Amino acid sequence: MVKRQKIFITGSVQGVGFRPAVYRLAQKLDLSGFVYNDTRGVTIELQGKEDKLEEFLTRLQSDSDKPPLAKIKTCNVTEIPVIEAEGKFTIQTSDSTGTPLSQVTVDIATCRDCLTEMAEKEDFRYGYPFINCTNCGPRYSIVKNIPYDRPNTTMSVFKMCEKCAAQYTEITDRRFNAQPVACCECGPAIRLTDTKGKTIETQTDKVIAETAGLLSAGKIVAIKGVGGFHLAVDALNNKAVEKLRYRKKRDHKPFAMMTDSIEKIKKYALVSESAEHLLKSPQSPIVLLLQKRNCSLAPSVAEGVNTYGFMLCYAPLHYLLFEQLNGRRTDVLVMTSGNISDEPLICKNELALERLGGIADAFLMHDREIFRQVDDSIVHLVDEQAVLLRRARGYVPGPIFAEQNCRQEIFAAGADLKNTFCFTKQNQFICSEHIGDLEDAEVYHHYIDSIEHLRKLFEVRPEVVACDLHPGYLSTQHTMSQAGLKVLSIQHHWAHIASVLAEHGLSGPVIGLAADGTGYGTDGAVWGCECLIASLEKFERFGHLAYYQLAGADRASKEALRPALGLLKKTYGDDFNIDKFGWLLERIEPDANKQRIILEQIEKQINTVETSSLGRIFDAVAAMVGLGGYNYFEAQLPMALEAAIEDEIEELYDFELINRTGEPLQLDLGGMIKQLIADIREKKAVGIISAKFHNCLAAGLLEMAKSARESTKLNTVALSGGVFCNRYLIIRCIKLLKKAGFSVLFNRDVPSNDGGISLGQAAIAAKLMKRKALLVDHLD
Ligand SMILES: [Zn+2]
Ligand SMILES: [Zn+2]
Repeated sequence: MVKRQKIFITGSVQGVGFRPAVYRLAQKLDLSGFVYNDTRGVTIELQGKEDKLEEFLTRLQSDSDKPPLAKIKTCNVTEIPVIEAEGKFTIQTSDSTGTPLSQVTVDIATCRDCLTEMAEKEDFRYGYPFINCTNCGPRYSIVKNIPYDRPNTTMSVFKMCEKCAAQYTEITDRRFNAQPVACCECGPAIRLTDTKGKTIETQTDKVIAETAGLLSAGKIVAIKGVGGFHLAVDALNNKAVEKLRYRKKRDHKPFAMMTDSIEKIKKYALVSESAEHLLKSPQSPIVLLLQKRNCSLAPSVAEGVNTYGFMLCYAPLHYLLFEQLNGRRTDVLVMTSGNISDEPLICKNELALERLGGIADAFLMHDREIFRQVDDSIVHLVDEQAVLLRRARGYVPGPIFAEQNCRQEIFAAGADLKNTFCFTKQNQFICSEHIGDLEDAEVYHHYIDSIEHLRKLFEVRPEVVACDLHPGYLSTQHTMSQAGLKVLSIQHHWAHIASVLAEHGLSGPVIGLAADGTGYGTDGAVWGCECLIASLEKFERFGHLAYYQLAGADRASKEALRPALGLLKKTYGDDFNIDKFGWLLERIEPDANKQRIILEQIEKQINTVETSSLGRIFDAVAAMVGLGGYNYFEAQLPMALEAAIEDEIEELYDFELINRTGEPLQLDLGGMIKQLIADIREKKAVGIISAKFHNCLAAGLLEMAKSARESTKLNTVALSGGVFCNRYLIIRCIKLLKKAGFSVLFNRDVPSNDGGISLGQAAIAAKLMKRKALLVDHLD
């Protein structure tokens, strides 16, 4: 029996080859009708035999027929009257009631079909390093403007040859409308140059063979990829890796690595099924994996951590390179961002030569311009769920869906560290890629440029802007300078918790546990470890870590001596003096004079702040147990402390909850500090001390949540904040909280560190604006 259905689909279904896929499937199943995009999603009218209609719906949602990047959020089917004499299925031009949302999609790892073609001698793209199709290839990184058509991308300078053009215009072809389509006849090409930019080789296979030769000989090669340059070096050659560290002035931070198969990664790290799935996903992020002991990787790839960051090849060029490396001894490469310390990733050829000329020995370049630099994303697994630590290539500008449309368009400025910003448009939160730390002047300029680029790309005209409460933040100051817009200042940890709510499509209230470094508090103190009763409309500070004094705000996040002295002074009061604790302090900072100066600062409260920072407590504890006194990169000491934990230890240190009327509950760690110091004196193993410390924090947070439940009757806990990038701590907290009957939410789609702040700010602003609009409506 013939029937007709109207199918309305929402989700990530535009700009991902969805309409051609619908077309092909309708053809296969002999169905007539049409498909079009509108501002809200995709509409399909479909007519044919009942069983075929059913098969259509099943197959559209199966991996075999759905484009890899399409994500169907809702699918609404209604039966409508049959139309007589409708012979075929057509793709209609988009509904004119408005431009479709998110035409620009993410950069996607090379698909299996393209890899197969690239390996086939008969194919006209055999061995072509820029092969791509509708299901893979660069997108966001090459788009200059909208609409997303070839003239608006950096591919505009390449005129398609006849063969490519034929595929591009054929609706049944895998390359239909794939904007970066190209081949060796008509598309971009690679070349190998010296450090001055002088061409050494231009023939593709020779360029790749020579690059492989250089890498196997321990040379550093700057390789231009999808979102920017990488600095590559043989990850099995310790001398070469150390040379890269020395030249890059990156003394300690772990390097990410790339290889071409899961089997190779398994030689060096533990790869669970979910990790394998992630590594092979179209997003192809760096996945943090537990290290295997005594593996043959160069020790200096990653020291003081217990994980390796691995990614699989994601561009055709990478595969061609590894094919050449496989005959040699090298099978894993360090692939670290091509930049100088904390500056933005470099993506332009000239700038690469200028800035990386002193680091790399040669350059593997190409002439496909990268318009947007996009870093590799970083993911780890919590409870076998993918959790983003850095959201960039493969994920941005993919939206996060809001439950309802926002009435007004909003800009959220984010935080100053690990900055991202966010726009709202209709029912979408559009978060930027990882921008970086704004205190670097180049990063700050990149921030300003990026805001304008993304605003144009998504045609957002914000009427409301949201920023952090911190008056000193550059992001705040930039926001405040926007004349004529309504500004909302939002407390840092409230934004953290709100980011969890937004991701889960909730508006609260929940019990929010923020375990964090630092954020400006409403009382002017530096908050960090907070228990908030929070919704998207408001929050109340239910509890926090007891304040201690932190000297020299700017340097306090680097020098562990500062929080250590603050904590010791708080714990021992007048009993504390430098001589008595000299044995402990000298392992943190040998300079006794410096110890004295900082202690005096704390005692007289000169240039000190009160803080409930948990991040700084990690620094202090790591330093006390002898893991170093200085964070050469952010969270170095906390990461070392986590890496030291011995398995299966259930013991913990004491803590105390202090409940004074009229004040928030306080979590006091004085008992913990005393016991911990006694353990150090008794020379207990660092791994045991670290486990007891982590266990104590998890238990303390659990007790705060229980107290909050008692007084509010809420039973959902949301976890966020940078300290929850610590896998041991978050896994233990989730376990304890669930055991106590809580339902537990945590960040997955955006980082729990400050990279997630902008989403939280946007979600709060959207809610507050909606509420205001409702009030006005009511008055009308
Ligand atoms: Zn492909
Ligand atoms: Zn061509």
